[in-house]
Amino acid sequence: MNLFNVYPLVDITPVRALGATLWDDQGQQYLDFYGGHAVISIGHSHPHYVQRLSEQLQNIGFYSNSVQIPIQRELAEKLGEVSGYPEYALFLCNSGAEANENAMKLASFHTGKTRVLAFKGAFHGRTSGAVAATDNPKIVAPFNAGHAVSFLEYDLAAVEQALQAGDVCAAIIEPIQGVGGIIMPSHDFLRGLAALCQQYGALLIADEVQCGYGRSGKFFAHQWAGIQPDVISVAKGMGNGFPIGGILIAPHLKASYGLLGTTFGGNHLACAAALAVLEVIEQEHLVEHARTLGDYLRTELLAHAGAEEIRGRGLMIGVKYDFPVKDVRDKLLTEHHIFVGNASDPTVLRLLPPLNITKAEVDVFLQALYALTEKAVTVIQEPSALD
Ligand code: PMP
Repeated sequence: MNLFNVYPLVDITPVRALGATLWDDQGQQYLDFYGGHAVISIGHSHPHYVQRLSEQLQNIGFYSNSVQIPIQRELAEKLGEVSGYPEYALFLCNSGAEANENAMKLASFHTGKTRVLAFKGAFHGRTSGAVAATDNPKIVAPFNAGHAVSFLEYDLAAVEQALQAGDVCAAIIEPIQGVGGIIMPSHDFLRGLAALCQQYGALLIADEVQCGYGRSGKFFAHQWAGIQPDVISVAKGMGNGFPIGGILIAPHLKASYGLLGTTFGGNHLACAAALAVLEVIEQEHLVEHARTLGDYLRTELLAHAGAEEIRGRGLMIGVKYDFPVKDVRDKLLTEHHIFVGNASDPTVLRLLPPLNITKAEVDVFLQALYALTEKAVTVIQEPSALD
């Protein structure tokens, strides 16, 4: 049988990893400035994570959700405490798409309405509902059209108009867009959106799958704007590589939990991984670290990267050039052995290193990028044969 794979693969086979370093099957070392797509939050193979998962596996790895699983409660308490949402409830599932799917389903149950407002450039996942709320040219239009989603600009008048049209159960927004190219709605927009949702009885869903878990320099990126969404989706960095996702649900939604459930959601191993992540984030002050090191990285990039724009917060950074960055990205990997991310905008490099990356590692990345972009700028400025 052939393996179904939709991703273009680079010809590298990582076999070992520690912190922000990966090694391939040839013994070549790589610097991880991509975090496996924002998944690696506390670094690869963190000793506390390895120990907690191993101990859990030796005791019990899985049993059905029809029994008591105290580690789920432990995780909910810890997440409430670390995130600043102790009064919210936690529903556990297995991925970001599943989290958003359940968030939208809950909104529909709660309000009795069907339409969802999403935003231009949004990415919310690849399940049926989540993909419908994802604004990506690769998504097949007829399928998308089957779902009642409107894609809006960050424009409060447009949001109000869409809400006035009626039947809106929720607005879903990434407080910092990831796949779209590290795009940040303004604080005023986020505050206005929260107020309008409340006014019209629609739920506000913050998709923190990529920008959450300390990455932005606060536990959740929406906390920069001082808003409180009704539902918050999490995944990726939550498990540091172990598949786990969830939604944090505001107390006023208790009556609407109908039909939330999944066989693997909240299994012992996933909860042990997620608890280890929170413990390390707390013990090693990784939210603060992401903020200060991110500030340093952005300041350096602004001064020396020759980029058009440096976007983002904390260790979620978009470096936008005035030329497609594929060549720079390829050379970072092949010549400097550094993984970075791309975005749907081909002129943006997306930086999502593990939150505990060191300043020395950041400097290695910066030197490599400067060396390459100087060359890239020189090449671009040369008149072509056709001029
Ligand atoms: N939401 C956002 C903001 C994401 O970036 C992603 C993944 N790129 C998802 C949802 C989907 O997560 P998953 O792949 O775990 O389903």
